[in-house]
Amino acid sequence: MTEIDVVVIGAGLAGLTAARALHAAGRRVRVLEARDRVAGRNHGDTLSNGVPVEMGGQWIGQTQTEVLKLVEQLGLKTFATYDNGEAVTLYNSTLTRYGDETFGLSDAAAEEVGRLQAALEALAETVSLSSPWASAQASELDRQTVDEWFRTNTDNPEALAFWDAVVPALFSAETAEMSLLHFLFYIKSAGMLDILVGVTGGAQELRVVGGTHQISERLAAELGDDIVTLDAPVHAITHGDDGVRVDFSRGSITAAYAIVTIPPTLAGRLRYKPALPAARDGLTQQIPMGSVIKIQVAYSTPFWRDAGLSGFAFSLDDPLSITLDNSPPDGSCGVIVAFFEGAHARIAGRWSQEERRASAVATLTKLFGTQAADPIDYLEQNWMEEEYTRGCYGGRLGAGVWTQYGAALSEPVGRIHWAGAETSDVWNGYMDGAVRSGHRAAAEVGARLDSRGES
Ligand SMILES: Cc1cc2nc3c(=O)[nH]c(=O)nc-3n(C[C@H](O)[C@H](O)[C@H](O)COP(=O)(O)OP(=O)(O)OC[C@H]3O[C@@H](n4cnc5c(N)ncnc54)[C@H](O)[C@@H]3O)c2cc1C
Repeated sequence: MTEIDVVVIGAGLAGLTAARALHAAGRRVRVLEARDRVAGRNHGDTLSNGVPVEMGGQWIGQTQTEVLKLVEQLGLKTFATYDNGEAVTLYNSTLTRYGDETFGLSDAAAEEVGRLQAALEALAETVSLSSPWASAQASELDRQTVDEWFRTNTDNPEALAFWDAVVPALFSAETAEMSLLHFLFYIKSAGMLDILVGVTGGAQELRVVGGTHQISERLAAELGDDIVTLDAPVHAITHGDDGVRVDFSRGSITAAYAIVTIPPTLAGRLRYKPALPAARDGLTQQIPMGSVIKIQVAYSTPFWRDAGLSGFAFSLDDPLSITLDNSPPDGSCGVIVAFFEGAHARIAGRWSQEERRASAVATLTKLFGTQAADPIDYLEQNWMEEEYTRGCYGGRLGAGVWTQYGAALSEPVGRIHWAGAETSDVWNGYMDGAVRSGHRAAAEVGARLDSRGES
């Protein structure tokens, strides 16, 4: 006889939504969280003037319906990301303002980017979301990297530079680090590329007043301290026909089932007794996390708005490649959110904070003018250094991984079930995907508890 029905590992959105669903169904559940806080990859910080900023996941799009529902249920409010005015692109030291669909590229490059986008979206349509490895052209798509596909399909250097910035902006990884099948799966999982990269009408449309970490904080408060245990890193799971025993820093607990919601690469670092099947362990060895350092640069006013700029910028020349306006809803100060991503993050990660700040401010000055040279505050979070995340935004699959190992991503191993943003077939890698995965795992375990009368 086990102590409880389900032990959930990780108190991010996946873990807390799974626990909430199970608790609501009358199951005895416990959540073990390694950090001294909940929310995992959603983390809030505060500028010195008291304005809250998001250091992890922040934007929600209108088609991310599961996370939006949760925001509403928990009494949180959203507001629109500032998106008025023109955007800028810096390429080969030339700054271009634009208010159309060209991304500030030359006519020839914009046309080429559009052609490649249409080709990618047509290919993405052929991918199965539930079983990408079983898609019609799975082997062919999985054998090549995104980099190979772009370089085979265009020789326009400006279009290539654009995709070399967009892909890391989406994955915090380089085009050479991911299979084409994974890229296509991700595009289809989100709807289409315009939704992935867009602000209004896209994945960056909304923010949560006060920050997204509050979603998890409110879920945890609802569940209470008896259910959610912080400072409890799990290190081993013993599993068998009768249930699971989970060993963590301060003890152990037995349950009928476990739901592991930590990123696959971290799940692979737990000790399993008996050891996991080779297919599952092999999978966890091959889903590395992306590399990102997220920064928030504050100014006394959102001065770029006066110049008719939205704050959305791409630099194809600099380590800091993408920026957006992240000012508070009342515009009481100006905040630019920006990212060092992929290879740039790995290089910038070796610099001192002063060097990163100087590099970021120099890029912002090129993009938005001399007023950007004088910020009132600078915050950064290096997600690669986080012991219980080890990189963001999420895990990615390199060439050959979906077709060789993909089936093991969310297939339970005995009484162990898997959740987390990486396991979702809709909005994979996003907060919405994390919520969906939590619901899916809770339903799977609930059904098994029902059918066996184990509760
Ligand atoms: C910089 C950044 C920007 C992002 N931007 C966006 C965005 O704008 N919109 C969006 O939708 N998504 C965004 N994301 C992604 C989004 O934050 C994640 O997809 C989502 O939060 C993942 O939730 P999860 O529950 O699957 O995983 P996590 O949040 O990683 O939760 C896993 C939990 O497990 C805990 N844990 C780890 N190891 C152990 C252990 N051994 N024992 C116990 N607990 C453990 C962790 O501490 C963590 O709390 C971003 C992420 C980052 C980092």
